[in-house]
Amino acid sequence: MGTPVNIIVGSHVWVEDPTLAWIDGEVVSIQNNEVQVQTSNGKKVTTDKSKVFPKDMEAPPGGVDDMTRLSYLHEPGVLQNLATRYELNEIYTYTGSILIAVNPFQRLPHLYDTHMMEQYKGADFGELSPHVFAIADAAYRAMINEGKSNSILVSGESGAGKTETTKMLMRYLAHLGGRSGVEGRTVEQQSNPVLEAFGNAKTVRNNNSSCIEVEGINDAEEYLATRRAMDIVGINEEEQEAIFRVVAAILHLGNINFAKGTEIDSSVIKDEKSRFHLNTAAELLKCDCDNLEKALITRVIVTPEEIITRTLDPDSALVSRDAFAKTIYSRLFDWIVEKINVSIGQDPNSKQLIGVLDIYGFESFKVNSFEQLCINYTNEKLQQHFNQHVFKMEQEEYTREEINWSYIEFVDNQDVLDLIEKKGGLIALLDEACMFPRSTHETFAQKLYTTFKNNKRFAKPKLSRTNFTIVHYAGDGVLEAIRISCAGYPTRKTFYEFVNRFGVLAPEVLEGSNDDKIACQKILVKMGLENYQIGKTKVFLRAGQMADLDARRAEVL
Ligand code: ADP
Ligand code: MG
Repeated sequence: MGTPVNIIVGSHVWVEDPTLAWIDGEVVSIQNNEVQVQTSNGKKVTTDKSKVFPKDMEAPPGGVDDMTRLSYLHEPGVLQNLATRYELNEIYTYTGSILIAVNPFQRLPHLYDTHMMEQYKGADFGELSPHVFAIADAAYRAMINEGKSNSILVSGESGAGKTETTKMLMRYLAHLGGRSGVEGRTVEQQSNPVLEAFGNAKTVRNNNSSCIEVEGINDAEEYLATRRAMDIVGINEEEQEAIFRVVAAILHLGNINFAKGTEIDSSVIKDEKSRFHLNTAAELLKCDCDNLEKALITRVIVTPEEIITRTLDPDSALVSRDAFAKTIYSRLFDWIVEKINVSIGQDPNSKQLIGVLDIYGFESFKVNSFEQLCINYTNEKLQQHFNQHVFKMEQEEYTREEINWSYIEFVDNQDVLDLIEKKGGLIALLDEACMFPRSTHETFAQKLYTTFKNNKRFAKPKLSRTNFTIVHYAGDGVLEAIRISCAGYPTRKTFYEFVNRFGVLAPEVLEGSNDDKIACQKILVKMGLENYQIGKTKVFLRAGQMADLDARRAEVL
């Protein structure tokens, strides 16, 4: 977000801070591109001019409830606004029609009670304080009025509060649908514990775990609660037994190890212990033990010409074991979802729906596997959708204000998506490789290296024979929206706000006239600014122009 900055000695600015992320301060000297800042926590920081951001000294003390109203749309300004509101327990803030939630890490029951839900019912968007209910209400109204399905996307890193937000969205939608009036626990409420018990894993910032002991959580109690929740959503005793048999089988599968077989690239069950787990898993799955063994240590490849069975070496058998376990688990989960959908009375013929998507963000670990590729690919797809949405919103605002919007550049990630999903792209090549009996990690990687040699989104790490890198954006929910807004006119002020703030720069234009629009134009002409736009109700400024005006204002005052 490198905005052209107009910083002078005495300007109030933000600079990066190793612990606080950003700290505010005052510019004490400028030499060429080097700026020295006296920070409010008593340090002197010298940095490049491009790393210093103007601070809005006129910002309302309680912050603004829509980021598009900020004078300075840059990262420190946005974070400062969120922090100010957070202090006041205002955890929600809009950026246009996007809602940003900051995890309160404490229960705020009044924020989600029936009274609150009633308030948001049918209220115009933006009329009340930002709230997750307002988003749900807007989606619901649009569905009813336009007869179209709608989706609400909840994104953020692990522990950010996506699942809690999703629950509140569902609670509100259930309320609108008239399903939450029932006394006692409803199916909707109970579907969550069941889905969480099977759909979540413990993460660093999140406790809804399975595989590990967590302080303050009693596994036995949680187990009973899950059983009770399953009763309520209509999973009967026999089905519950089957579910736990499948789960137990998966755990046993995970304990089966392999040793080298007598033939080349083959494997056998390692020892008596592993055989015990194999037998138990087969028993639990009610399948034939020999067949299960065969399924683990061989691979069947179906080509258009023939069906080939190949033995696997111990490493490949392990991979096959894990893939098998994952597949069983994912089918089990799908079955549970289906069951819950039936029991909440989802009408299979209904044409319209509101989808609520609770998705984790970009992942990057030391070792990244196919899973990270899929997660990051999904996120890139969503990012594109999001970019297009923000772009459209910006255009709509400019059209409403009847200003020229040819300035906004659309940030596009289509090239990353092409690399992955296009005909002849990475996924297609992977599919192809899986069909070749002789494929290895090396042959697949070699194929990628040659195919995408000149693709600027693809890179081969030096010396590696199997690794590859996809150079993608991994943009951040909030900052991306801001980046797009910055490309056009990041600052917009109503005529009144503008005259109020910058009238001092041209007091003569205010005399004898009370037309704010004309006054705005005269001030801008006098200041010699270019490329700004005068809309129907607002002034639209290009990046850096607000800082320029503020600097001149500071000289006058
Ligand atoms: P995510 O799904 O993004 O990984 P969660 O939604 O599970 O994160 O949130 C993690 C924890 O943060 C929750 O268990 C809860 O304690 C707290 N939390 C998140 N959002 C809220 C909220 N709106 N109100 C109260 N607590 C919240
Ligand atoms: Mg979650």
